[in-house]
Amino acid sequence: MSFDSLGLSTELLQAISDEGYTRPTPIQKQAIPVILSGKDILASAQTGTGKTAGFTLPMLQLLSKAKEQSEKKRVRALIVAPTRELAIQVGKSVETYGRHLPLNSVVIYGGASFNPQITKLREGVDIIIATPGRLLDLVKKRVVDLSSVEFLVLDEADRMLDMGFIPDIREIISLLRKKRQNLLFSATFSAEIRKLAGGILNKPVQVEVSARNTSPHEVREEIHLVNMEHKQAHLSYIIGSRRWEQVLVFITTKLSADELTKQLRLDGLITETIHGDKTQGARARALEGFKEGRVRVLVATDIAARGLDIDKLPHVVNYDLPKVAEDYVHRIGRTGRAGNEGLALSLVSHEEFGLLKDIEKLIKHTIERVETHDEWSEPVAQAKGKKVARPTGQRRGKSYQKKSPAPKKKSSESRSKSRGQRSSKRR
Ligand code: AMP
Repeated sequence: MSFDSLGLSTELLQAISDEGYTRPTPIQKQAIPVILSGKDILASAQTGTGKTAGFTLPMLQLLSKAKEQSEKKRVRALIVAPTRELAIQVGKSVETYGRHLPLNSVVIYGGASFNPQITKLREGVDIIIATPGRLLDLVKKRVVDLSSVEFLVLDEADRMLDMGFIPDIREIISLLRKKRQNLLFSATFSAEIRKLAGGILNKPVQVEVSARNTSPHEVREEIHLVNMEHKQAHLSYIIGSRRWEQVLVFITTKLSADELTKQLRLDGLITETIHGDKTQGARARALEGFKEGRVRVLVATDIAARGLDIDKLPHVVNYDLPKVAEDYVHRIGRTGRAGNEGLALSLVSHEEFGLLKDIEKLIKHTIERVETHDEWSEPVAQAKGKKVARPTGQRRGKSYQKKSPAPKKKSSESRSKSRGQRSSKRR
């Protein structure tokens, strides 16, 4: 199936062709005709499925078709996203896909100066892409009037729920006109999401593109059994010995993200971190450095990494396992995107076996275990007080770019390689 058969205008087909897309993704195939017909939608789709174009393209078409010729601009579409990063990402998509259309948009998010956002709003915009808190701040300052919004998108609604944004969302919705089209996207359909959707959507068409909570097919997964206190050394070793040029490392807390970043830098790896306590500027710089390839390791907490879209990211590491099993699927979905292959490697300590069991139950398969240095997989209690050798080639302050000699015992690298050769890619 080609994009031509979806009923999109020539301006949008041109933008799609500019991007080099040849075929719509499953979510686009399903969602675009439904949205164009004016119906509400409840869609289950994760980042990486092409969901942004799935709602942006038909939205732009509907807005441009009905575009008024009046002098004064009104805000006609509102896209709400849980994080600054996702809002910026969606804003870029709106600009990209709408480049041949006479529609204006603004991205509104906290942690940045009010002035440029206010200036843009005063000039008049058709589309606002916003995080909830800053949007409400601007409503209170009376610089934005949402009463003409006829098109509402709630992106990553499950994450908004996790982040406690639902009261804000309800307040925002109370400011919109009653007659409008609503789209709700969520990676998971929990009972709470259904309840939220029930209060917002009007007879929605439900769209679910992939089996819920499965791992992306293009991602190969590995579990490395590593004691907690040896995880950092093992990570440096893996990055160096496998000669990884880029890796996104997930970690649960902001504090441990900072500590890990410090240690990886001591090991000579160019590392940056993004988490909720970093300023918007610092987060943007770190992300840009990573996207441009100047930063080799990006350490991120789950929330900060939401919506990150990095083309061809080959490796993702779970430094610790997420407390919520569904987050594992989100994390590893950062790699293996748009048909590229990816590897998701999880460092798992004894304390995390319970979480691992939950994840494997959710994704309905057992992840390949890769043995590490034998001493490392001993229970932590036994290893305590005992001097554990760092793997060979693991010296502080040295880069692992250089060829490092093999560890004493059979290395995790060679084992994983031979296993990797044996195990065919999961499809
Ligand atoms: P999303 O799930 O919206 O974050 O999109 C994931 C990635 O897929 C983005 O980098 C898009 O540029 C890309 N993408 C979206 N639609 C298509 C398509 N039909 N063909 C190829 N790539 C696409």
